[in-house]
Amino acid sequence: MNVSGKQPSCDLSCDLMIIGTGMAGMAAAFFAVRQGIDTIQVGLTGEIGFASGLIDLLGVHPVVQGTPVDDPWEGIVRLCRDEPHHPYARLDIETIRTAFQTLLDFFETSGYPHAVPQRGNQRIVTPVGTLKTTYAVPHTMQAGAWALDRQAPCLLVDFDGLKGYSAHQIAAGLADRWPVLKPVRLVFPGGRGELYVEHMARALDAPAVRQQLADAIRPHLGGVAAVGLPAVLGMYRTREVQADLQSGLGLPVFEIPTMVPGVAGLRLRELFEQRLPPMGVRPLFQHRVLAVRRSKDGGMAFTIAPEDAPRRVKARAAVLCTGRFFGKGLQADRGGIRETLFGLPVAQPKDRASWHHKDLLDLQGHPINRAGVGVDADFRPVDAKGRPVHDNLFAAGSILAHQDWIRQKCGSGLAIATAYGAVRAAARFLQKLY
Ligand SMILES: Cc1cc2nc3c(=O)[nH]c(=O)nc-3n(C[C@H](O)[C@H](O)[C@H](O)COP(=O)(O)OP(=O)(O)OC[C@H]3O[C@@H](n4cnc5c(N)ncnc54)[C@H](O)[C@@H]3O)c2cc1C
Repeated sequence: MNVSGKQPSCDLSCDLMIIGTGMAGMAAAFFAVRQGIDTIQVGLTGEIGFASGLIDLLGVHPVVQGTPVDDPWEGIVRLCRDEPHHPYARLDIETIRTAFQTLLDFFETSGYPHAVPQRGNQRIVTPVGTLKTTYAVPHTMQAGAWALDRQAPCLLVDFDGLKGYSAHQIAAGLADRWPVLKPVRLVFPGGRGELYVEHMARALDAPAVRQQLADAIRPHLGGVAAVGLPAVLGMYRTREVQADLQSGLGLPVFEIPTMVPGVAGLRLRELFEQRLPPMGVRPLFQHRVLAVRRSKDGGMAFTIAPEDAPRRVKARAAVLCTGRFFGKGLQADRGGIRETLFGLPVAQPKDRASWHHKDLLDLQGHPINRAGVGVDADFRPVDAKGRPVHDNLFAAGSILAHQDWIRQKCGSGLAIATAYGAVRAAARFLQKLY
């Protein structure tokens, strides 16, 4: 643990501190308050706001052969057999299902349902005209998977001034696999100029704007069975926006993810930020943990930014969800890879020369991508001998070792499942204290 130079007085205390506001931190905070645990959550912006909003469970296994997984549940069972150190292997399949379904139910009751296919993974069109394998998709994207499955003729719309998204490029990229796509460029209601997806989505929350958009699209519909738009169908009122456009056009309407930052990821972030505090999570969003030390009673005392007026939070236990290099949970330098907050042991290649294979696109993936914090069966970070470093510290999400979520296509699924496992173990620890 780092030791803070300053010792500010203790402002707040809680049973469980969740560190991180990416998918793992948000899911952990949700699972914790759902169990009635007194929870504080702290974190800066996580990858969730940059992500596509698709929820992958497992898309590829084995990665070395690049084999697509049709049924992610069956795939996870095989993965755990083949890679017993993978974080999924710390949980049984029924627990992973429970974690996943519990979070999807939360999205549904929060007004932002996700569609889960009956037959396993589904495929979604990407903004560069390729197909992505995923599992749960926001309801706004569901008709796209349906249309692709049936090879239905579709109108693909893009907009003057929207960078990084071209309906023509998507149609050209899919010409061999989905040839009946008709691209068209329109002016977004409100006029020309540079467009940003977040502003467009917020604009479409207003009924008058979506009416104007439907009027602009209508003349181009001839012979199509559905209409694909960049993912901008509202920020908070996606159900209304999609329903209004569908009734205005008389056809299914679907979203295609855009480049980062994606509105579907931003919607998830906003959903969590708005729903968790009323459920009981005490948020310290946009705050950073600067240091942590063990208090005399065995708990932890966190020093939280800003540095000139730091706050101190006491917790009986914590779940570390600080992500990898992007989230700043891990840091790499000449000496190796470090865990940034507690100084935990990091499972990593023996030297820098072994971080990467020579071939950038090596199908095995680079060893550095599997570096991270190793955990025991209770998701407690462990030392080189497999012993827990602290009895009251748990970890979840992409910081965990022995997984390669980008290649295995399991980013959000892994974050959700391991958050559930870590919170469940933390709850058992806390119960013993009372
Ligand atoms: C561009 C992009 C596209 C993606 N697309 C998909 C997709 O299609 N499907 C899918 O399933 N997944 C996708 N993902 C993956 C997914 O969003 C996350 O990577 C994954 O869920 C892991 O999240 P995490 O919470 O472990 O880490 P992160 O999201 O990195 O969150 C780490 C958090 O820890 C906080 N933190 C770090 N240090 C501190 C500190 N000292 N004090 C306080 N807070 C701290 C950070 O501020 C951040 O909030 C995508 C990710 C990206 C970047």
